[in-house]
Amino acid sequence: MKKPIEIAALSPTEQESPRLVHELQVHQVELEMQNEDLARMRDQLEQSLERYVDLYDFAPVGYFTLTDDGIIREVNLTGAALLGQERERLIGRGFGLFVSKETLPAFRTFLNRVLVGTSKEFGEANLSLEKLPPRYLSLVGVGLKTEHERLCRVATLDITEHHRMEVALQASEARLQSILRVAPVGIGVVRDRIIQDANDALCRLTGYTREELVGRSARQLYLNDEDFDWVGLEKYRQIVERGIGTVEVRWRRQDGASIDIILSSAPLNAADLAQGVTFTVLDITERKQAEELLKLSEARYRAIVEGQTDLVYRCLPDGTLTFVNVAYCRYFGRAPEDLLGTNIAPLVLDTDRADTLAQVLSCDAGHPNNIQEHQVVRADGAHRWMQWHNQAVLDDDNALIEIQGIGRDITEQRAMELELHRLATTDLLTGLFNRRYLLAVLETEIERARRHGRPLALILFDLDHFKQINDTYGHDQGDRVLQAVVAQVRGRLRRSDVFARWGGEEFLILAPETTGSDAVALAETLRAALHERPRFDDELVTASFGVTAYQPEETLDQWLKRADEWMYASKRQGRDRVSGDKVGVP
Ligand code: GH3
Ligand code: MG
Ligand code: MG
Repeated sequence: MKKPIEIAALSPTEQESPRLVHELQVHQVELEMQNEDLARMRDQLEQSLERYVDLYDFAPVGYFTLTDDGIIREVNLTGAALLGQERERLIGRGFGLFVSKETLPAFRTFLNRVLVGTSKEFGEANLSLEKLPPRYLSLVGVGLKTEHERLCRVATLDITEHHRMEVALQASEARLQSILRVAPVGIGVVRDRIIQDANDALCRLTGYTREELVGRSARQLYLNDEDFDWVGLEKYRQIVERGIGTVEVRWRRQDGASIDIILSSAPLNAADLAQGVTFTVLDITERKQAEELLKLSEARYRAIVEGQTDLVYRCLPDGTLTFVNVAYCRYFGRAPEDLLGTNIAPLVLDTDRADTLAQVLSCDAGHPNNIQEHQVVRADGAHRWMQWHNQAVLDDDNALIEIQGIGRDITEQRAMELELHRLATTDLLTGLFNRRYLLAVLETEIERARRHGRPLALILFDLDHFKQINDTYGHDQGDRVLQAVVAQVRGRLRRSDVFARWGGEEFLILAPETTGSDAVALAETLRAALHERPRFDDELVTASFGVTAYQPEETLDQWLKRADEWMYASKRQGRDRVSGDKVGVP
């Protein structure tokens, strides 16, 4: 609002007029110039006032002017928005109405400090607003001195997000700390190889207290400088290459004992290793020891298995070979690669194959062991006898995983056994079964006859006056007569008949599936055969026969005794005859 200067109101004298008029004109020009300056300044002032109002209202900070009892006197738009209200509705209301109960006392204290003091005061308040989530404010207040009242201006900044992050950070920090505490592995932080932090497990593992670790060089944990330097270089190399570094090394505990560990490290900031490196330590001392023991026992086992002359194999339950030792390969004349993965079946002689496989593969939890003998075929086609001790390999649930066996060649042993058996069961002079063998056969045959109700007969014969032959021609000639008689009789027997030398010149024939009368008929045949041969110096060698059929419930002794009685009956009646169940009564 410009106010023109009233020049016409002045009343100059006559003589002064021209000068005055001039002076006034000059003044008027000056005043007009001053007036323009003032107008410009006022415009500028108005503009800056508008700018100030804009700044005040749209600043990111909420400004409040509060009375000494906390009533809002002025507030900018940001402040009103912070409280979730229209500006007009806030004027005259207490700021404290919007502050949560918990933080209200702290807010009151803050307000008092601001009103009393002369410097800036800082505080925080938690707002509790209708229909809005809680909001956290950071407060800066300063007192305003006026003549009539005490006022203050409070700048408020919304730090809800900041607060939320701080709470989250605290929670995650707490979580991390609890993980560090309970982690079973040692965890720590190093910077420039100086330990910055160590969890309980690391202390336990090393035997040092936290104080003895933190701030100290990691060097004290290593056995020597070389290890320490090597770990530093190797870990650094790995971290550069793939972000983390893992080494196996040995540490020395506080008590002097050494432990094997796996040390894994990762930088806190991959872009800046100088910020430090976190590391975890796993004690693998026991595992190492177990590994060493295992290696040792495996080496021992290998030496035993490979060094032994017995054949060792393992096969799957279907007979596929999974392991063979050197002796096995050598014995069968094949390379390990030609055997492994193939079945054992082709190695077994075809006649024995079905039985053998059934027996080997019958190993299971119920029958974990078996011994079997069978013939095998070697690379050169030779048939040999093998004896195997097989054993089932079971898992924890007793399921069959594999079968393992140890075997040896028993060809010679078996031949010897057969020979021994032959010797033990036969009579050397005549080649007939001996008395002992026949007794064993008698037992089983009686049992069979009893069980199945089948006929069974005995023919006992004793040479007549044999003593005379010996006496006349000598004992050797007597032997030959015995052999000749045996040859004569043997030719007339069935395969199933068992012909044995019962005593000196006494013979017994066990005839299965033969009734008393059939046996008598057979004895007659034999008696007649002796008449054909052998003759000695025209002298006839005859024999007296006792024939008897087995009667149910009769013991072996009783039966033999009856045969003997029939035979003696023949002797009594003049020799060279047959007596038996069908031809007379003993
Ligand atoms: P018998 O039976 O008819 O009553 O008259 P025996 O002369 O055969 O009488 P005895 O049974 O008593 O005699 C059997 C003889 O057989 C006695 C023994 O010297 C002879 N002898 C027994 N074993 C052998 C043998 O292995 N070789 C020879 N050469 N003679 C034997
Ligand atoms: Mg006799
Ligand atoms: Mg006799």
